Amino acid sequence: MSNKLIDGKAIAAAIKKEIAKEVATLIDADKKAPHLAAVLVGNDPASETYVASKERACKEVGITSTTYRLAEKTSEKELVEIIEFLNNDPDVDGFIVQLPLPSHLNSDKILEHIHPSKDVDGFHPLNIGRMQLGLPCYLPATPYGVVELLKRSKVEIDGKHCVVLGRSNIVGTPLSILLSRKSNYGNATVTLCHSRTRDLNTIIQQADILIAAIGQPEFVKGDMLKKDVVVVDVGIHRIPDASNEKGYRLTGDVDFESVKEVVSKITPVPGGVGPMTIVSLLQNTLSASQKKIY
Ligand code: NDP
Repeated sequence: MSNKLIDGKAIAAAIKKEIAKEVATLIDADKKAPHLAAVLVGNDPASETYVASKERACKEVGITSTTYRLAEKTSEKELVEIIEFLNNDPDVDGFIVQLPLPSHLNSDKILEHIHPSKDVDGFHPLNIGRMQLGLPCYLPATPYGVVELLKRSKVEIDGKHCVVLGRSNIVGTPLSILLSRKSNYGNATVTLCHSRTRDLNTIIQQADILIAAIGQPEFVKGDMLKKDVVVVDVGIHRIPDASNEKGYRLTGDVDFESVKEVVSKITPVPGGVGPMTIVSLLQNTLSASQKKIY
């Protein structure tokens, strides 16, 4: 089994080493360390955890990180003022506004205030448009991480049929664009599926590469798949498990136990896509500090 596993943790660790080396080179050349800021509004526990992991990851590679913690009731005007401040702060190379925002704030509207040159989450419409056109841009972290995982695991995608389950703006849709682009690592034939897709099982059965990002625990079963398919599981869920001392276990959108027999390669949960997402944000921050994109 172990030779089938795509080890996201190990690949992410290797990329972190590469980033740390580049940061050290900047510092040796008397340049400042890259600086990532995060704006966190309210006290959503998952967001708190995610921001804490970003702070830890930055520290590991020598990137400076600053977190702006704002009260749950922060107004749109106050949040935009902080964004404008970060847009104009020459010390900050890139920043993110942690999602989800409290319900009184419209995230689409808020994200448009981030200057595209500092939008290291790659969510600004300009960066999304540039991605679509194949122009230099910040790629959204999870799709960027999935593409790196496949590339570094030497999965051939040129001409292959990639089936992407889920069309969210942060995962499925950008992935469908990246995999099908006319580029060095692209040229796949992509089918993008969603909750209105008819005859989903027939489409899944045709996949050479299946990417599951639908937010449904263990939805994909082994008997749905073609032999030797490559499976990337983006989903992450905590489900109750009395046999585990924590009372829960982590699982993905894929039923790992039944699927592992059929695949040629598979990403585990945890330890697959998850570690790559933060690393992609670090890569974007490094690119921002090196002015590689804007
Ligand atoms: P969303 O809930 O935003 O989108 C889910 C998508 O799946 C939608 O397009 C929806 O269709 C589609 N969908 C839902 N149910 C079905 C179904 N039964 N059949 C076909 N399509 C379906 O999810 P995200 O993209 O934000 O996240 C997906 C998963 O990935 C989640 O488990 C999330 O936790 C995880 N995630 C993991 C990350 C990581 O770093 N590992 C990062 C981001 C997300 P429709 O558009 O029609 O509603």
